[in-house]
Order: sequence, then C-alpha cells, then structure tokens
Amino acid sequence: MATATDADDQPSVEIRPGISRPDWSVLTSPQACRALAGRFAARSGLLDRWAIKLEPDADRVWRATLQLYADLGQAPTRADIVAASRIAVGDVGSLLDSLRSHDLIDLDAAGEIKLAYPFTQASTAHRIHVGDNTLNALCAIDALGVAAMLQTDIAISSSCHRCGGVVQVATTAKGRALKSVVPVDAVVWYDFAYDGSAATSCCPAITFFCSVEHRCLWLEAQMPKRSGIELTMDEALQVGRAIFGPVLMLNGSS
Ligand SMILES: [Zn+2]
Repeated sequence: MATATDADDQPSVEIRPGISRPDWSVLTSPQACRALAGRFAARSGLLDRWAIKLEPDADRVWRATLQLYADLGQAPTRADIVAASRIAVGDVGSLLDSLRSHDLIDLDAAGEIKLAYPFTQASTAHRIHVGDNTLNALCAIDALGVAAMLQTDIAISSSCHRCGGVVQVATTAKGRALKSVVPVDAVVWYDFAYDGSAATSCCPAITFFCSVEHRCLWLEAQMPKRSGIELTMDEALQVGRAIFGPVLMLNGSS
C-alpha cells in the first residue's frame, strides 16, 4: 500500500455510494496526512459542516452547481441549476438552503449562488484557469483541488501572502501531479481556524507564499498566533485532491 497512513483509521464521510470524502488514499506524504489529521483534530467538537452525507436530491443540486460553475466560468443561476438538475424549481430553493447549512455553498441576498467551494464570485488572490474560463478560488487548497475535482488540468495565478510576488502553479495528469511551480520554492500555509464557515475563518489564511522565509515572516507577525501547518506545493496538491477529488465522483468513475 502506497499511502502513508491507514485510510480506514481516518475520519471521512461516505458522501454517496462508494465515494468517501476526504479521500485519504491519495495522501502519500506524511506531512499532508498530518495536515488533514491536524485539521480534524483542531476542529474537534466543531466538525466541518460539509462532513455530512447529503440526501440524493441535495447531492444532485450540489454536483450540478459545481459542474455548471466550471462550465460557465461563473456562478450558475437558480434557473441554470433547475435545468441541469431536473429538479422542480419549487424544490431547488430548499435544497440550496440545505447545502448552505452544510457550508458547501453560500447565497446572496437574492438567493443566488455567491460561492460554492472551491469557487467564489468574490475577487480573491487565487485565479484558476480552466479551459477558456478563469474563476476565483476561496483559498490555495481549494485552488489546487479544482483539477482533481474536474479531472482536468488547470493553471493557478496567485500571489505571495507576504510580499505580493507572483506565484503560479500548473498541474498535469488530470490534477494528480504538478507540472510547474513558480517560484520553485513556493509553499502553502494550511490554517486550522474554523468558525462554522470556512469562507470567513480558515480560507483567508490558507494562502501561497513565494518562499519558506516569507511564510515564516508572515506567521511571526500574526497576533493572535495562528494554528496550522506549512506544506510544500506537492503536499498541498495532495490535500486539495483528498478534499475535492471525490466531490463530483460517482461510483465507477475513476
Ligand atoms: Zn513573498
């Protein structure tokens, strides 16, 4: 077994038949395992709200929302979701509310999608280039997980959270490996903060840094001190794959 941990011992949820999330089996790095395990340990008593199995119709709306988001390059409207999911317009509203209660999406005042992890309508530091579309990701791990979720390769344009210098990442093998990282020593800070909404707690601090030095300088300046772990880009890609790889997967798909 190539994994660095026994996947059976780690917390995960079967989100649909035969598909569990996170997918611990893609973690070959001990540091990536520590990151994901540390995340759950830090959040004991306040489990990620997405770590709950959805009803089939809610799952269908969730998958339709994310696939449309990627295809359109922006948040789908309710009408788009109704058409794609073939669920009655009167039911989609309550299903979106259910997804929101699980911190899988958020809605604006008009009830339209404003974010669906890993994507957001907000302008963030993390731009994802997928095919002809460019989308914003909520955090560095979300950005890295997009490729595995869509089973396609992506390019990420972001910046160092300390100096603002350019950080660029491209994937290969349908998001399973890194094609290029600029600068080569760029790292990710994986923050453990969680208040029930990832978008407002951990996401703003899960960021890219141009170097270990800049990650250290940033962390030392944080008050109060932050809890989290540093990941190389390859380790961060593994964590992104573990969290987002299963999201659109159906039993029997690779
Ligand atoms: Zn920097």
